[in-house]
Amino acid sequence: MMAQYIEIKSANPDCLLFYRMGDFYELFFTDAEAASRALGIMLTKRGKHQGHDIPMCGVPVERADDYLQKLIALGHRVAVCEQLEDPAEARKRGGKSVVRRDVVRLVTPGTITEETLLDPARANAFAALARIRAADGGWRYGFACVDISTGAFDVGEAGETELTAELVRLEPREIVAAEAICAEARLAALLAEIAPTTPLGRDAGGGESAERRLLDFYGVATLEGLGALSEAEIAAAAAAILYVERTQKGKKPALRPPSSLRRSRALEIDAATRANLELTRTLKGEREGSLLATIDLTMTPAGARALAERVAAPATDPALIGERLDAVAFFVDAPDLRARLRALLARAPDLARALSRLALQRGGPRDLGNIRAALTSARDIESCFAGNAPALVAQEVAALTQADAQLEQAIAARLVVDPPLDKRAGNFIARGVDETLDEARDLRDESRRVIASLQQKYVELAETKQLKIKHNHFLGFFIEVPQAQGERLLRAPFDATFTHRQTMQDAMRFSTRELVELEAKIASAADRAQERELALYDELCARVLEKAQELQRLAQAFAALDVFAALAELAVSRDWTRPHVDSSLDFEIVGGRHPVVEAALHAKGEVFAVNDCDLGDARAGKIAMVTGPNMAGKSTYLRQNALIAILAQAGSYVPAQRARVGAVDRLFSRVGAADDLARGRSTFMVEMVETAAILNCAGPRSFVILDEIGRGTATFDGLSIAWATIEHLHEINRSRALFATHFHELTQLTKRLPRLVNLTMKVKDHAGEVVFLHEVTKGAADRSYGVHVAELAGLPASVVARAHAILAQLEAADRRAPVEKLIDDLPLFAHVAQSAPAKDALHEALAAIDPDALTPREALAALYELKSKA
Ligand code: ADP
Repeated sequence: MMAQYIEIKSANPDCLLFYRMGDFYELFFTDAEAASRALGIMLTKRGKHQGHDIPMCGVPVERADDYLQKLIALGHRVAVCEQLEDPAEARKRGGKSVVRRDVVRLVTPGTITEETLLDPARANAFAALARIRAADGGWRYGFACVDISTGAFDVGEAGETELTAELVRLEPREIVAAEAICAEARLAALLAEIAPTTPLGRDAGGGESAERRLLDFYGVATLEGLGALSEAEIAAAAAAILYVERTQKGKKPALRPPSSLRRSRALEIDAATRANLELTRTLKGEREGSLLATIDLTMTPAGARALAERVAAPATDPALIGERLDAVAFFVDAPDLRARLRALLARAPDLARALSRLALQRGGPRDLGNIRAALTSARDIESCFAGNAPALVAQEVAALTQADAQLEQAIAARLVVDPPLDKRAGNFIARGVDETLDEARDLRDESRRVIASLQQKYVELAETKQLKIKHNHFLGFFIEVPQAQGERLLRAPFDATFTHRQTMQDAMRFSTRELVELEAKIASAADRAQERELALYDELCARVLEKAQELQRLAQAFAALDVFAALAELAVSRDWTRPHVDSSLDFEIVGGRHPVVEAALHAKGEVFAVNDCDLGDARAGKIAMVTGPNMAGKSTYLRQNALIAILAQAGSYVPAQRARVGAVDRLFSRVGAADDLARGRSTFMVEMVETAAILNCAGPRSFVILDEIGRGTATFDGLSIAWATIEHLHEINRSRALFATHFHELTQLTKRLPRLVNLTMKVKDHAGEVVFLHEVTKGAADRSYGVHVAELAGLPASVVARAHAILAQLEAADRRAPVEKLIDDLPLFAHVAQSAPAKDALHEALAAIDPDALTPREALAALYELKSKA
């Protein structure tokens, strides 16, 4: 057995091997040590290997899911190795034969499908990477994101720098990539930050073999039907399919055809910004308190997943955003329809996940029941709509009409009302469906009655009332009488009927030919009933899977309608407004609120102070510099405007009285001061790394929020960095930006920078009584009120008094004067830097040209390009 174990383990070296032995999965050697540590279960030993004890631990099969969940959450991969035959068969083969076993499935973080292991509200995908040499000699990366539990399959293409941003947005639970990619230390380190990464061997390349893999998987003759995919996308999709085949061991999930993300360009939000804005999780990693948790009023898990995707990837195309808003508006204006739809959705099952379990042969009768219920829901929901719906709603409703009534009837006619989870529980095919099944079941179920009448017969025959027919696992059915009566039955004439089986302390056990025959009949009836029932089950599954594509589409329609109706519910219940999104560079918010802070205040019975924001300008964005004391609401203000942009572009109404948003292409933030200790970087270093990313990447369509740049270092350092950053944003990036700062001196910069405006947080300061109104107004703060905040925080009165005195002295000295003078004297950043980038670009382009490698035509093109850069 150990030899078999070692062979199987060596074929799955990167997995913990769950080795089935009877009612347990056993783990051995280092696997056992790792699992016992991770799961807190006892480590024992079994036998010896090369003279050493073999460490072992085990988990009971019926509780395996719990343990799997823990191991997966810790990033482990598990290979589940089952017994492929009855131990009796192995014994038949002769003396030392070991039960045949093999791995039936790899359970990895990105490929789980079990309801108990999945978070209903989150997608559970893995990402597969492949790369292709680009024309310029660099690499183009293809990525494919596959959620086996729902069949979602997205592909895209990116250069190395955008690749990680794309992956962060897709939130895969696991990344698989060719060994060559994993071998690149820098990239591998970035990938490892996103999700555990698994190498996929060398056979995951592009080219023809990749295409063939896709064709085979979808059973089509050409890829054209799957839409236009690039070479890198095909390579990645093929790698994903390879991984699916590897982990599912021949079972084929119902995947949708790969759809390219290139066609729907998403608002780019880098990892730091996503975290800072707490879009789907708070900085502490919890869902509660995130934007998503605050706005998620969906009724179904699939709807929740679709909404999460929307928030993670808001659109940039104003036309598409407008259509989505039309769909939401439609439900805002139709409260009765919305309520009915939502009530129906609440009852609809998670169709996509039920379908996927059936496709992988991991489903059960309850999944069939869910398919039936989904088809019924589709009909009910469709009948709510009258026909005047906007395009996106009409499109989903049309998909509902495709729901297959025949399939629904077929399942309804065969399945009981409340089917069990596990097909082995039996009795899920209704009575009257199949004669053979009913007969076999009758025989099986009648056994009690038949046995009872047989017992009566033997009581009379043996002339004793103390005779009983009993059952146990060793003997099956047997007759039991007290010792004294038993002696009698051993003799004629009784011995003609009763055969002695066992003598107990004070009882004797007998059998009869009739009883043995009946026993065989009952057992075989149960077997026959099960066999027949499973055959009918398989037939029904096959019928369902024939319609897999249609059912997938149905699941999407449920999710899409759920999202629209939920966003409408949100808009109505929180009094949000429809934003106007266009392709201008405007950003004009009237009466904006922060959805999460507002909800928190609301829960405490407090009121959120609304604030306006206007960063619009015809050619380039404005920068608003926000000054004001700590705790006055600066961060809240910055974030709320970024969130309004995200919500608007996600196709949601927004928390404001009025909102006009020129579609943002990239969103950047540098907010808060979370020390990144895990990576060993100081707050200041993190701050500078993030600021560098912003200054290097932001453009005129971008939206930037910067909170307290330069705070983490000495005053003059910090002031200088903040100053230079603002100038760069204003002159080079030309983005729309909000900039909160403690350096009140910087408000003087408006003298030099025409698109810079000063905003400040209103403070009521009346006879030493300071109240923060959380209201934003034009102008600059004159004081920080830091000492006031310190007082509120409970600093000893003596320290507060002393601080007041020192502050008064410092203010008298007025350290602002020299800075003010500098602002007048120092030439603007732009004067020094403005021509530099153009010159650099020219140099770079020139350096990149290799005259020997150019065709005459390319040479001419290069010349034109150089000319355009000059
Ligand atoms: P700052 O960045 O200026 O230090 P914050 O934005 O962190 O201040 O806000 C501090 C607290 O003030 C928040 O936790 C919130 O409770 C409250 N607050 C902020 N903005 C508002 C507002 N517009 N209306 C009501 N309360 C607010």
